[in-house]
Amino acid sequence: MDPWILKWLEKEMGDCLFSTVRAMPPVPLPPDSYDAVRNQYVSTRILREMLKEVPEDARKLLGVTDKDLCIPILTYVFGEAQLDGIAAVVSLARLRQEHYGVAPDRGLLLERLRKESLHELGHTFGLIHCPSRECVMYLSNTVVDVDGKGRTFCRACRAAMGPLSGAGREE
Ligand SMILES: [Zn+2]
Ligand SMILES: [Zn+2]
Repeated sequence: MDPWILKWLEKEMGDCLFSTVRAMPPVPLPPDSYDAVRNQYVSTRILREMLKEVPEDARKLLGVTDKDLCIPILTYVFGEAQLDGIAAVVSLARLRQEHYGVAPDRGLLLERLRKESLHELGHTFGLIHCPSRECVMYLSNTVVDVDGKGRTFCRACRAAMGPLSGAGREE
């Protein structure tokens, strides 16, 4: 992982969720999460491993990886989260323009990462997929969906999340 991107995400998630966010030292992916046939990593196994590493004072734990993620029934996922749980993981692999044979676009990569990180964290706050395209909880199957949807939670999803930790501010 590019440490600069992690640093950027740390601040961005803190601002979006009105929470204190702290980056942790990098950890290797669990070897049993690698699927050699698909040359991808099974996100569910990464989540399981992450749950062993949750700091005592942490409410949520977001994993960020450059590796391509999948689950058995889908050819790829941008990320996966425990619904109403602690852990979520996102992958940069398919958020990069290079993956689609296009020139790199750092700004677009960060915007996609921001949306997908918020989306997966939203699941950990108990949110399910939202029918509104304006909402970051809208289901994204492709980067076109990611680019087309809103960059934050709609009013209904924000209300369903309940109070966030830290300041009692409202968006
Ligand atoms: Zn989702
Ligand atoms: Zn929504």
